[in-house]
Amino acid sequence: MKASMDRRSFLKAAIASGAVIAASGTLAGCSPSGNAASGSSSNASGQVAGTAPVSFSEETDVLILGTGIAGMSAAMDPVEAGYRVMLVDKLERVGGESFIACGVMNVTGSKMQKDAGIEGDPEEKWKAYQPVLEEKGETDDMDYKHNVYVYQTEWADRVAADYGAVFQPITDYMDTGAPTSMLLPGNGIGDMQAVLTPLQKGLEEKGATYKLNLRATNFIVDGDGTPIGVRFNDEKNDKPVDIRAKKIVVATGGFSCNQEMVSAYLPSQARLGPLTVNSMGEGHQMCKALGGEYAHMDMEANRMSDLAQVTVWGYFSPQVQVTPQGRRFIKEDQSHDSPDAAVELGLGYWWTVFDDQTVNGSQKWNVEMNMKNNADRLVGPCDSLDELAAAMDIPASTLKETFASYDASVAAGEDAEFGKKLFLNSLSAPYYAMKHFPYRYKTHGGMKIATDSQLTDKDGAPIPNVYCCGSTVADSGSDLAPNAGSGLVTGKAVVAALKA
Ligand SMILES: Cc1cc2nc3c(=O)[nH]c(=O)nc-3n(C[C@H](O)[C@H](O)[C@H](O)COP(=O)(O)OP(=O)(O)OC[C@H]3O[C@@H](n4cnc5c(N)ncnc54)[C@H](O)[C@@H]3O)c2cc1C
Repeated sequence: MKASMDRRSFLKAAIASGAVIAASGTLAGCSPSGNAASGSSSNASGQVAGTAPVSFSEETDVLILGTGIAGMSAAMDPVEAGYRVMLVDKLERVGGESFIACGVMNVTGSKMQKDAGIEGDPEEKWKAYQPVLEEKGETDDMDYKHNVYVYQTEWADRVAADYGAVFQPITDYMDTGAPTSMLLPGNGIGDMQAVLTPLQKGLEEKGATYKLNLRATNFIVDGDGTPIGVRFNDEKNDKPVDIRAKKIVVATGGFSCNQEMVSAYLPSQARLGPLTVNSMGEGHQMCKALGGEYAHMDMEANRMSDLAQVTVWGYFSPQVQVTPQGRRFIKEDQSHDSPDAAVELGLGYWWTVFDDQTVNGSQKWNVEMNMKNNADRLVGPCDSLDELAAAMDIPASTLKETFASYDASVAAGEDAEFGKKLFLNSLSAPYYAMKHFPYRYKTHGGMKIATDSQLTDKDGAPIPNVYCCGSTVADSGSDLAPNAGSGLVTGKAVVAALKA
């Protein structure tokens, strides 16, 4: 009772800020189809300027805000259970940042892995992982985290078997020394469409509908403050669209592109540019206006190169990464270490040097694409280190020293200086190099939720009808596979709630 009163008094303030809109028709007892359209309820004593009255034009069982990997994964169980599911995105295309991600998905024990002879049990792996999380102290709800973790495997198997998602055959890289805990999309790095387009189309075939160019701006609440729908701005026609829903899923991604939020919560990344313009934290702000709470907003996320896909080549072939002066500064087999170190060392930019082992390796498709699309960042082919150094505009003597020291580590079988484990192999001519700049690209902070992913208020009480998943949630992990797992957590919870 107290929580409900608190929410009502909170809503008065929220309505005034325009963040939550009361359905005046609902206050006056109108039907779900929203014939409050004219909007002026008899008991309304005023209206916030610039806020059109609520007028529901459509109704659905499950309304999903955001069509990234989390939103689409959250749709799977409700669609399969026969509920009406509508996925809405502010952009003209589906897929969010998930579509443009590099595509590295860490999963244990999927059918794809087992078929290639790689055994693994997600529950067993979780037992090893949980103490690590406990020690870090960044996880509020181990049960939620466990479910996200083990559902990653279920997700990979289901999208492949039931939706036709295409993963790169593990046999392409399993014997090269690359990690077999990683699943990649169809053509390898950079081909997330191979996974997400079949998922999108499969959901559509099973009955889901998509609406694009609609930006969610406000929750719509009834007279008790219960969320019953969402207001969108029709981005093409610049007019409000109100959609009524029994359950609302917020899957609007992170907030790394919102300069004000990054400056407030992650000041250490405020002076790095964002890689995209999509992750504006709009879902975060809507949920907060509804009485939701932020958690772990200051949790540091690793950085990325502006040539994101080039950064992850190091999992699949040998490279040497060097400073603008030509010195090695990092182990090359952990994609985020180089942008993180570049920022910490104040390098401004850095180079990835590679050779035909990368050009002709398991990620050939992506390497060729990046070399073509980023020709202005590429030097090579160079027939010698002297030629390469000249093309990179660094002293040849320094680059040769760097390679001599690296080759000594290769010969010793151990990288004593930086600890590189994967692909500790020498490079040979022809050499190539690509220049990178560090950017910010994801965030960990997000909404506090219950174990079933329902949004909670400051007292931890669930806010009715609203669920969050993906990078909108503090505990999701903010990577492709855990965000997919978190979508499944939400989809299952929504089905259970609709059935209840
Ligand atoms: C360049 C790059 C490379 C990456 N590489 C990897 C990788 O290899 N492996 C990995 O695990 N992770 C990677 N990541 C991180 C990964 O992409 C994210 O963790 C994941 O995509 C987030 O999924 P999501 O569904 O939560 O959000 P998103 O995929 O961003 O989807 C959110 C959707 O919500 C929509 N939206 C936002 N606000 C509104 C609104 N107000 N109304 C309606 N719609 C809205 C957006 O348009 C978007 O479509 C990468 C990220 C980037 C940027």
